[in-house]
Amino acid sequence: MEIRIQDVSKNYFSGGKTIKALDHVDLIIPANQIFTLLGPSGCGKTTLLRCIVGLEAPDTGEISIGNDVVWSKHKNINVPTEKRGLGMVFQTYAIWPHMNVFDNVAYPLQIRNIPRDVIRQRVAKTLSFVHLEGMEKRPATKLSGGQQQRVALARALVAEPKVILFDEPLSNLDAKLREETRKELRTFLGKLKITAVYVTHDRVEALALSDTIAIMREGRIIEVGDPKKIYFDANHRFVADFIGRANLVKATVRAHDGDHTIVDCGLGIIACQRRDIPTGSEATLCIRPEFIRIARGEAGGKNVVNGRVESLIFIGEAYEVEIRVGDELLLAKIDPDVDLKVGNAVNFSLDPAHCLLVSI
Ligand code: ADP
Ligand code: MG
Repeated sequence: MEIRIQDVSKNYFSGGKTIKALDHVDLIIPANQIFTLLGPSGCGKTTLLRCIVGLEAPDTGEISIGNDVVWSKHKNINVPTEKRGLGMVFQTYAIWPHMNVFDNVAYPLQIRNIPRDVIRQRVAKTLSFVHLEGMEKRPATKLSGGQQQRVALARALVAEPKVILFDEPLSNLDAKLREETRKELRTFLGKLKITAVYVTHDRVEALALSDTIAIMREGRIIEVGDPKKIYFDANHRFVADFIGRANLVKATVRAHDGDHTIVDCGLGIIACQRRDIPTGSEATLCIRPEFIRIARGEAGGKNVVNGRVESLIFIGEAYEVEIRVGDELLLAKIDPDVDLKVGNAVNFSLDPAHCLLVSI
């Protein structure tokens, strides 16, 4: 089911101040994808999810799920949450500790007065889908964190929703379990082929899990794209900076030349991936640390830059090196077996394809 959000705004009033939690949000969430809302804490992700679910009423706009308008200010439509055909997994209260696995998962069916034997069948089928078959009698608290998360998923899926929504469901798990559960979730959702809306502030989670990512900031959608587009080809400085570690260098556009846009910046004259920004305007050059490749001899090719190693940190799979180039300090991630010391002169060339120009 596709979800369409048109001109949705939501203000909160608190302590005499107005908080613009959602500021004219227009968004289409395509059917049968994992669609992630990613942004810093407080940018409005939960509010938007709650508006889709029907736990919050927007101040303006319209929301449709499939062909049904579920909320509209001017048509005066507000379909209650339980009639929107959704499943939800939240960070807190993911499962009820006083119930066993069966009762946790069966709950959404029990409140719909579905016959007991149908409930038993559907719960068994869903538990087997999340690899918890035979665990019906187990008290919810006697499960590992990862299993509890799968119970929460099973409960969200048992009523066969058209759309499933997640609000930071992994943030209470430790790093290793978070990674495993993320992988499982990706597999489960891939098999289900339903629309999944996933909220997180964790960029790696968003990159690893999503078909499409929407970056939010201060109640607005800034940019939407698939993970690679967002990581390698963002339009906005905020997005490039938020989605991964980035060296951001102030630059002035000097010329356009075929596939390249030439800029003048603290690293010298640099050929970048072409962007149609007017000559003379200011922009930001974004270079990911992994694309600064220090040459073992003299660097050749385009965009050769000379610098000096200012610091060096060994992090196991790589060295993180700070390289001083004039007033700029660049972070590079390089092979751990390269023989480098603080103070060494280094030179490197930058592939124009990985020199990205973004807004100031
Ligand atoms: P996120 O989920 O991205 O962290 P939220 O949607 O929870 O952000 O919040 C967006 C903004 O709205 C924040 O500034 C938050 O403090 C504010 N906010 C959220 N809920 C309420 C509320 N019930 N009353 C007042 N302010 C709220
Ligand atoms: Mg939130």
